[in-house]
Amino acid sequence: MEVLAGPTARLRITVTGVVQGVGFRPFVHQIATELGLAGFVGNDADGVFIEVEGDPGSVERFVSRLETDAPPLSRIERVRTIPIDVAGEGTFRIVASRPAPTGTALVAPDLTVCDECVAELEDPADRRFGYPFINCTDCGPRFTITLRTPYDRPDTTMAAFDMCPSCAAEYDDPADRRFHAQPNACPACGPRVWLETIVGEIPHGDGIDAARTLVRSGAVVAIKGLGGFHLACDARSRSAVAALRERKGRVDKPFAVMAADLSTARSIVFVDPAEASLLTSRERPIVLLRKRPGVHVSDLVAPGNGYLGVMLPYTPLHRLLLEPGDVWVMTSGNRSQEPIAYRNDEARERLADLADAFVMHDRDIHVPVDDSVVRILDGAELPIRRSRGYAPYPIALPMDVPPLLATGGELKATFCLAAGRHGFMSQHIGDMENLETLDAFGRAVEHMRSLFRIEPDLYATDLHPGYLSGAWAERVAGGRPVVRVQHHHAHIASVMAEHRVTEPVIGFSFDGTGYGTDGTIWGGEVLIADLAEAERAAHLRPVPLAGGDRTVRRPYRMALAHLWAAGIAWEPGIAAVEACPAAERRVLRTQLERGLNTVPTSSMGRLFDAVSSLAGVCHQATYEAQAAIELEALVDGHARGSYRFDLDGATIDPAPVLRALLADLDDGVPVPVVASRFHRSIAEMIGDVAGDLRTRTGLGTVGLSGGVFQNATLTTMTRRRLERDGFTVLTHRLVPPNDGGLALGQAVIAATRAR
Ligand code: ZN
Ligand code: ZN
Ligand code: FE
Repeated sequence: MEVLAGPTARLRITVTGVVQGVGFRPFVHQIATELGLAGFVGNDADGVFIEVEGDPGSVERFVSRLETDAPPLSRIERVRTIPIDVAGEGTFRIVASRPAPTGTALVAPDLTVCDECVAELEDPADRRFGYPFINCTDCGPRFTITLRTPYDRPDTTMAAFDMCPSCAAEYDDPADRRFHAQPNACPACGPRVWLETIVGEIPHGDGIDAARTLVRSGAVVAIKGLGGFHLACDARSRSAVAALRERKGRVDKPFAVMAADLSTARSIVFVDPAEASLLTSRERPIVLLRKRPGVHVSDLVAPGNGYLGVMLPYTPLHRLLLEPGDVWVMTSGNRSQEPIAYRNDEARERLADLADAFVMHDRDIHVPVDDSVVRILDGAELPIRRSRGYAPYPIALPMDVPPLLATGGELKATFCLAAGRHGFMSQHIGDMENLETLDAFGRAVEHMRSLFRIEPDLYATDLHPGYLSGAWAERVAGGRPVVRVQHHHAHIASVMAEHRVTEPVIGFSFDGTGYGTDGTIWGGEVLIADLAEAERAAHLRPVPLAGGDRTVRRPYRMALAHLWAAGIAWEPGIAAVEACPAAERRVLRTQLERGLNTVPTSSMGRLFDAVSSLAGVCHQATYEAQAAIELEALVDGHARGSYRFDLDGATIDPAPVLRALLADLDDGVPVPVVASRFHRSIAEMIGDVAGDLRTRTGLGTVGLSGGVFQNATLTTMTRRRLERDGFTVLTHRLVPPNDGGLALGQAVIAATRAR
């Protein structure tokens, strides 16, 4: 900062970043007062504006403390200062917000109740003792209750509640930790909780104790939380979990659980220090953790899975509901395939057949936000679903982009609204296979546009001609350009973007399915990619996918197709052959031989399916990637050895892998060893292919993306091999490697091509 002359100086300061709804103005008021400075602070659509005047040294200290002492939830992106004329003010004030037509003030995500609020919540002498909506400037709901910016109470769903004199006094007192806490409330003036059944409200106080008793007695209770309704039941009760699966129409897909506290969590899963800090972080995601042998939750919670998704209570309401030792299934309040329910009336209707009772409250949720799912991999976070607690913090983009909207793919849909250096990745929307989800998508886009005031000039979407998200983009674009981005290129661009890499990389884009530039189904792709273009340098040898979806749901069909393509006979004794009814086998053989109703696929996900069935692990899948997840769950971490792919030019042929694997099984090698060798084979193949491509291109950076890299075993093995060979390895830390991260890649590719 320049040295200011004279006895008094005045600066106009603008601060951008996440600076609203996080206690920034009281913080500014406090340091200005401490330093004896006069002036004012307020919010506008860009962030926070400040003017300070006083002794030049103090003004200078003020500016540096803005950054060094900022409140915990804030994220400062930029502080700009301009010297202006002294005005001769005597005090420091907080002034009214200035609405402005443009600008992108950032909004904080919804964050877990803070320690100070928990202390009050548990203090019988506090006026908010046991109050489920306690919050302050450091914690509580934000994104889900905010209608528009600047963030002020009338622009949130708290507008319906008038503060009582005690709450208003806190709200108006710059020294109070609830100064301008927009969701501020207490039992006298704020939202309330009640328990109801189909018949109506049960007069039972707030119903929290009654709800807990219901869950413990085996009932399914719908609980309205921060971003929508959960369906809860006792995770230790086999019959309760079975009933929930039955009602939801969910066969095997794992449920997440909420454990009352960290020590309760440790009783069912292994938790290392990095995982403990993620579990207790203010984002409070569901963390995928290794099950303890003989876990004390029902085997129906996550059948066939080595991991259990666990979260800790993140709202005051959850803290009041669960007592130490409680482990509850907490799954999204919806029927399979539908978006999460989040409005009271809607929940009463849609969840009527699913829940025995409802824990309701009257603080409206403006937009639904599902729980996030994260795992720790090699000491770092790997997002599986980026939603509550993370959205809508922007991803810092590697370059300036025009206002644009990328609409993602089909499964695990998210979108990316971007402008300048900000990529706002949406919360998780769901699988875009029905109109309900498409509607939810449209509403989420509208909400983000109204928060960040971004009017897209450019749209990006997947190359697939049949995705609803693509048709939606074409319609909404209304003639503005829509860039179609190849699926696997978008995956690689997303991992590049989050590492701010713009130079070309060797990209391994491995997933279940994505539309290729040749109209076939890709998914085992090696790309030489930058943010504009991608060259398909190598790929898994295509095999015929017979009958599409049917084969995706029945891995034994994929196994037979792989054997057929490899010229391996369908011998009795092979688990996949035994699993396929004889009549189906005959039809399948005819289909494969004549190429009837088949599409070639180079999918790595489908190779995992095939191997899972060949090893006798999973023949029928009721959720995406089930066969691969169950195969990974069996891997013997101490086993040695691998199989070798045939690398012939651009084709990666798994035939020798399949032959060796069947020979192992024939010799009685245990399945966990075979599973380990198969995983290592892929890591070794990646190392070999990357080595060849480095020789050809001179590139030394490898990007790993696509849903297959959610597999912790594979990703760790691959990273070790590549790093041993001297490669720089990019893996995901900010957005998921699965299709939930696609929109980020689409956004940077569209922006690069638009230049
Ligand atoms: Zn708090
Ligand atoms: Zn009050
Ligand atoms: Fe994908």
